[in-house]
Amino acid sequence: MMYETVMDIDQLLNRLYAYQPEADLGMVRKAYEFSARAHEGQTRRSGEPYVKHPVAVAGVLTSLKTDVTAIVAGLLHDTLEDTVATADELQKEFGKEVVRLVDGVTKIGKITFRSSEERQAENFRKMVLSMADDIRVVIIKLADRLHNMRTLEHLKESKRHEIAKETLEIYAPLANRIGIGWVKNELEDLCLKHLNPDVYETLRVRVAKRDEDRQQYIQEVRALVENALAENGLVGTVNGRPKHLYGIYQKMKKQSISFEEVYDLTALRIITDTKMNCYALLGVIHSLWRPLPGRFKDYIAIPKSNLYQSLHTTVVGPKGEHVEFQIRTEEMHRVAEYGIAAHWKYKEQGRVQDKDSKAFGWLRQFIEWQQDLPDNRQFMDSVKLELFHDVVYVFTPKGTVKELPKGATPVDFAYAIHTEVGDHCVGAKVNGKIVPLKHEVSSGDTIEILTSPNQTPHKDWLKFVRTSRAKTKIKHWIKSEEQKRSLEIGRRLLEAEFRRHGLAPSQVSKSDALLELAKQEGYATIDELAAAVGFGHVATAQIVGRLIAPTSEKSTAPSESGPVSKVASGRGTAASVQVKGGRDLLMQLSRCCNPVPGDKILGYITRGRGLTIHSVECPNLGALDYDRDRLVEVEWDTATPGQHAVNIAVIAEDKTGVLANVSSAIAESDANISRAEITTREDRKAELDFVVEIADTNHLSRVLKAIERVDGVITARRLRSWRGKA
Ligand code: MN
Repeated sequence: MMYETVMDIDQLLNRLYAYQPEADLGMVRKAYEFSARAHEGQTRRSGEPYVKHPVAVAGVLTSLKTDVTAIVAGLLHDTLEDTVATADELQKEFGKEVVRLVDGVTKIGKITFRSSEERQAENFRKMVLSMADDIRVVIIKLADRLHNMRTLEHLKESKRHEIAKETLEIYAPLANRIGIGWVKNELEDLCLKHLNPDVYETLRVRVAKRDEDRQQYIQEVRALVENALAENGLVGTVNGRPKHLYGIYQKMKKQSISFEEVYDLTALRIITDTKMNCYALLGVIHSLWRPLPGRFKDYIAIPKSNLYQSLHTTVVGPKGEHVEFQIRTEEMHRVAEYGIAAHWKYKEQGRVQDKDSKAFGWLRQFIEWQQDLPDNRQFMDSVKLELFHDVVYVFTPKGTVKELPKGATPVDFAYAIHTEVGDHCVGAKVNGKIVPLKHEVSSGDTIEILTSPNQTPHKDWLKFVRTSRAKTKIKHWIKSEEQKRSLEIGRRLLEAEFRRHGLAPSQVSKSDALLELAKQEGYATIDELAAAVGFGHVATAQIVGRLIAPTSEKSTAPSESGPVSKVASGRGTAASVQVKGGRDLLMQLSRCCNPVPGDKILGYITRGRGLTIHSVECPNLGALDYDRDRLVEVEWDTATPGQHAVNIAVIAEDKTGVLANVSSAIAESDANISRAEITTREDRKAELDFVVEIADTNHLSRVLKAIERVDGVITARRLRSWRGKA
């Protein structure tokens, strides 16, 4: 790399002198000697004398071309924390400003981003405050972290992972935010190396191989560009670009594409003298080779938020290969590499000049926030949202951080803690206030989940949860619960049907004959068959009919009288209605009011669909009143009794057994259940909807009374589709 580690003080002084000849080199040497003395006897994990570390950190600072004060502070950055040296001593030898910088770096070093929320918030604030107060503190800290990452292999694996994760989550985004591109890239590559060594090594080898294969091609393109520039009287240096392995890895992961697809292009950078010549150069490139549509980006006219500027374009180069160009001025290159450090003009006190502070509006905003938001938590929200936008970080009451996707709700949080917590959550407190379960949580929120053993997952939750974990768990629960309930209902229905036909349920339920029948129907066990009955997929009459068919021909007859599947569709037959005057008409019972014998009825002659029988109370009939000619008087034919399907709605306490008891109450009133559906409401009541076959209104009221006698039932009523509309 272009920014290799500085190994000793002479090398450091040379580097500083190279860009700042007027610098006080004596002061730098003095700081080195102070640091070496203070750290005397201390060694790094590598076994080297400790002072090599501060020298290397100061070396990184020369790569960033910082001022002498920052370099002196870099040399001394660990003396307050790790040696007997005091702030007073430092101040006497090097002045107030250096002490302030070293102190700031020491404070940031104490931040553990893994600790409790309050500490995180407080420390994050300190960190940003120190940054707003003097950005050099953060730059020194980044240099410190960079050298630690460069020498991470000397630590044991768990520690390496811990530091690399923190770097990836906090320091690399920070470096990016202040625009120090190469530090961000190197930090990320080092993180990849330690967190995912196999991937790192594979990519490193492949990139090296690829670059080797490409050398000749790159030379060819370079020569062509340089010739063209000379012909047009333009200056510019053409270079390859350092490879960012983590960037390649991210692209492969995000877009699920292969290494070849990501890396199948030659990338070159041209640095020229003026902004105007950037565009002139772009014109030259585009006249040499055809640009790829959609790949031109003008970051000069519209700089990135971290002030990055360049022109980007991709062209179809020699041999039809894609070549990507970045075109920028020397100054733009400095900003891309050094970010905020490139802009910072150090005057006394390390304050920024007005012109530059305007450019870093976001930084000024931090200072303003600090004044407006006395609450740490709120402050941390703002800061974190700046750094991370796709995720929110929330806290358990004990201060453990949970990462959730943006838009997540307390239910997602509950499932992130434990399935049991999710399954039984009834409410949540966010920062001490009760919120609805679909409330959207924000970064920094402390969330407490309220649970109740009676609570169960709700279908509605699927509408607002964001994590796939929560979705999966809720669906799983609903499915297994439906299975359980169907089995329970199915068993009851079958038992009632057996009894009706004089069969002993206890014997039949376990009989080989029933198992055989289940298998014929495609179910592995009797329970599966019962569940299918409970779901309404199989009719009880169908089963009982086939069970008793071989032994007695006669007994099949009653089961044929009311094929359940037909009744279950909710439509009754109109065979038992007589029309006064004896007109021969096609008839059907209306679906809207679904009249049964006992209800007062009227017929309405529809166009093309014959006679529809309505209940006289039906509001639809009222609407048809204008066409009186079409109304016909009809009455029930009591001579030929039949089965009629009605909808019954039952509200009951949502407790175990209620359902089964209601089902058997219906069955014991000689009514057949052809369909049952259960919904749990939010007030912990259950709504049971049945389709029941009854003979007439008298039979119906007997059934309703029987249901209402069941313990736990609140109301039972006949449901008609027009109810509620009226
Ligand atoms: Mn250090």
